[in-house]
Amino acid sequence: MSVMETAIGWLAPALCVGCGSEGATICPSCILGISSFGERCWRCNRLSPGCRTCDSCRHTGSPSKVFVFTDYDGMARQLLTSYKFGHQRSASKPIAATMVQTIRRYQKPAKDYLIVPIPTATSRRRQRGFGHTELLAKHIAWQLMLERRESLRRLGHNRQLGASREQRLHQLQDSFIVRRQSLVKGRKILLVDDVVTTGGTIISAAQVLRQAGAASVDALLFAKRL
Ligand SMILES: [Zn+2]
Ligand SMILES: [Zn+2]
Repeated sequence: MSVMETAIGWLAPALCVGCGSEGATICPSCILGISSFGERCWRCNRLSPGCRTCDSCRHTGSPSKVFVFTDYDGMARQLLTSYKFGHQRSASKPIAATMVQTIRRYQKPAKDYLIVPIPTATSRRRQRGFGHTELLAKHIAWQLMLERRESLRRLGHNRQLGASREQRLHQLQDSFIVRRQSLVKGRKILLVDDVVTTGGTIISAAQVLRQAGAASVDALLFAKRL
């Protein structure tokens, strides 16, 4: 935390985004008030045991299972906004805690995973002074006692001459490369990201991790944008 952020924290104690009570970005009873996304396919919302990506959505190259805490709405949205844009770095803890509860509910036991965060864009990291997904991944790995590695690196949106239509579409999405492939080879990966919108990001990340030899790729997300 920067000196300035610490100073702001002293001057203005965190207020709950739900009820306005002092002390934390969200209070325990407001967290309980956020409705969970449930045991569904993350893309089409159909009920799906174990949060598996359903057969009709699997062709996209999606992670096999995607665990989502809630919809990106109401308090969840306010909480994430204050975390990412309001210098409320401490909000990382309740956000990570809800994600830990989510995977514990649907995946028992949640072990053997290698936790890999979707990397925060460099410009964002510079603005905030920290990588918001990396920090969530750190808390999650610590609480679940799992190994964590920042194995993905973002690539720029570089266009290639002569690329096929499919390649061009792929380049429009986020693209990544895997650092030190030998360390993901044969591993069960659990991607960590804050919010999923079109799904392009986690699909793209899952594809490069599989190409690098990962045994399987699942994902854990805080929220799904409607
Ligand atoms: Zn509250
Ligand atoms: Zn589906």
